[in-house]
Amino acid sequence: MSLIINTFYSNKEIFLRELISNASDALDKIRYESLTDPSKLDSGKALKISIIPDVHDHTLTIVDTGIGMTKVDLVNHLGTIARSGTKAFMEALQAGADISMIGQFGVGFYSAYLVAEKVTVITKHNDDEQYAWESSAGGTFTVRLDKGEPLGRGTKVILFLKEDQLEYLEDVRLKEVVHKHSQFIGYPITLFVEYEHQKELSDEEEEEYSGDKPKVGDTGSEKEKRKGDQQKKRTIKERVIVPEELNKTKPIWTRNPDDITNEEYGEFYKSLTNDWEDHLAVKHFAVEGQLEFRALLYIPRRAPLDLFENRKRKNIKLYVRRVFIMEDCEVLVPEYLNFMRGVVDSEDLPLNISREMLQQTKILKAIRKNLVKKCLELFAELAEDKESYTVFYEQFSKNIKLGLHNDTQNHQKLTELLRYYTSASMDEMVSLKDYCERMKESQKLIYYLAGENLEQVANSVFVEKLCKCGLEVIYMTEPIDEYCMARLKTFEGKACFSVAKAGLELPETEEEKAMLEEKKAKLENLCKVIKKRLESRIEEVAVSNRLVTSPCCIVTSSYGWTANMERILKAQTLKYCSTMDYMSTKKHLEINPDDAIIEILRQKVETDENDRAVKDLVVLLYETALLSSGFTMENPQIHANRIYKMIRLGLGIDEPTQASSPAVYKKTVSAQHEEASKMEEVD
Ligand code: ADP
Repeated sequence: MSLIINTFYSNKEIFLRELISNASDALDKIRYESLTDPSKLDSGKALKISIIPDVHDHTLTIVDTGIGMTKVDLVNHLGTIARSGTKAFMEALQAGADISMIGQFGVGFYSAYLVAEKVTVITKHNDDEQYAWESSAGGTFTVRLDKGEPLGRGTKVILFLKEDQLEYLEDVRLKEVVHKHSQFIGYPITLFVEYEHQKELSDEEEEEYSGDKPKVGDTGSEKEKRKGDQQKKRTIKERVIVPEELNKTKPIWTRNPDDITNEEYGEFYKSLTNDWEDHLAVKHFAVEGQLEFRALLYIPRRAPLDLFENRKRKNIKLYVRRVFIMEDCEVLVPEYLNFMRGVVDSEDLPLNISREMLQQTKILKAIRKNLVKKCLELFAELAEDKESYTVFYEQFSKNIKLGLHNDTQNHQKLTELLRYYTSASMDEMVSLKDYCERMKESQKLIYYLAGENLEQVANSVFVEKLCKCGLEVIYMTEPIDEYCMARLKTFEGKACFSVAKAGLELPETEEEKAMLEEKKAKLENLCKVIKKRLESRIEEVAVSNRLVTSPCCIVTSSYGWTANMERILKAQTLKYCSTMDYMSTKKHLEINPDDAIIEILRQKVETDENDRAVKDLVVLLYETALLSSGFTMENPQIHANRIYKMIRLGLGIDEPTQASSPAVYKKTVSAQHEEASKMEEVD
């Protein structure tokens, strides 16, 4: 808290935006309640915000006729500095965030302490008495029953300004700040400006005035003057308070788009979202005919950190004939568009509709369909501008992919929005259309590989041959990618194929095909021996057409999980359930017919099918292939022991004995024991 109180932050004016925004939220709440229960407004019909500077007391007061707070609300909402938002905000500040972002953390009220040394909140909720909360910050506060002037309903926030913040008593400054941050607030904001003016006294006042007592404003010189000129009326200085409405602009979405500048759209976006950055793109449109509504949709520049967390999201505000209804209306857009911000103003919906009924209405469903269409149109328009689209895609690619997974109706449009790095384009993402346009004539499939990161997929065994032949492979590095591909399947009539799966078809000549068949025949026996040795771990052993430098790799059958999928599912801490056991056994070992290791193994098997060294090496090869193909090993220690054994063999060292190193010995024995049992299982 002291960070806020003592900050040298220069943009302190945002406190007013936060307090006005709280007032506006409170007014929204009572208006919404009154739609179904008009008696809620018996405590006061006018919905408004007043700003009252007092130059004598050095206080600035913001009054609203909103829902107010009960005693419990006061304690829960204003009292606890330890709210999670405070912590998150403090952490963000320390990481270099700007104080003006405070509203995003749900602790906007505390910004009052940027300018005030003490804050008093008087509030009256329909269901409770009038209470006063007071705090000079620093964690302690008091709440007491308030017997002062009754509010009727609503909240009055009195700021006792710090000595160096008295600029917020000046009407010019206040008007400037309200105009800048709060001009689009949907309730009248009235500033009570105090003027001094010269007033001519009426005859009665004149008489009263000529008594003995001097009156305020009656200067000695004026008295003298009057003596000299009895005909002339006397004037005095009088203080008057004049209300002035500050936000008279029509709601922006009701105006003609041709008359609205980009700055105005930007200002409205900021007032709507509390975002400190400008929006990335905007679409303003009206639908007329059977369905009638206006909408203003914005794409933010940045995805919120908790985009996919399961919580109520305030994304698109729903209005009915300019009356605000609600802002956390999940039915307006599907989950994958939950990052869009904006307003929708319907002419057709009834005003006094409950939230439950709202979810059911056909009108809302039709609005939703239209909004999705317009969002996709906006994305497609944005895609024309590479720079902006890159910003968009970096932030929201997951949403597009989630859409592809969930929204079958818009499959085609969403597919066109996808962008990926590929083996031929590692610096710039390309669309599937771009990919197809440069496919080789003989290429029938769209090749892709999903993995942890670009470096890993680009160096993967699966792409060795494809890259060597100049066949472009799409690289996918987001966990959602493979789920998404399960839906995508084809693009422009071409099937998408994961190169981590068995049965890879390459555009080969007849000659190449014949050669492969020849190699297959030659290696048939070795394949059988390997299969027998690894029986329980793999489904098939095949001669590979995709390897260049590696002796072997592990692929999955078309319905098994790829290494990447297995990694993702394990990371999601899915219990190692029976499905997982089943799916993860669908592995195929592919061997490289042109590799020297494979050739030597073949020769050894030809002479003796039961060669002990071959048996050991096959397991070692299998385990190494697991690693190089991106799988994790259930028991890496056994593999490590095998490698150590090979190293010792290579260096001509005997197996360790108890005398040489007890620790090593112990480990080796237990590992050998484990290995033996594992081997038995395999054998
Ligand atoms: P946020 O508004 O983002 O939730 P704040 O710190 O600004 O965070 O306010 C905390 C809570 O205090 C609000 O959610 C609201 O419940 C309550 N509150 C603040 N100002 C008012 C007000 N003028 N009228 C009614 N409730 C208010």
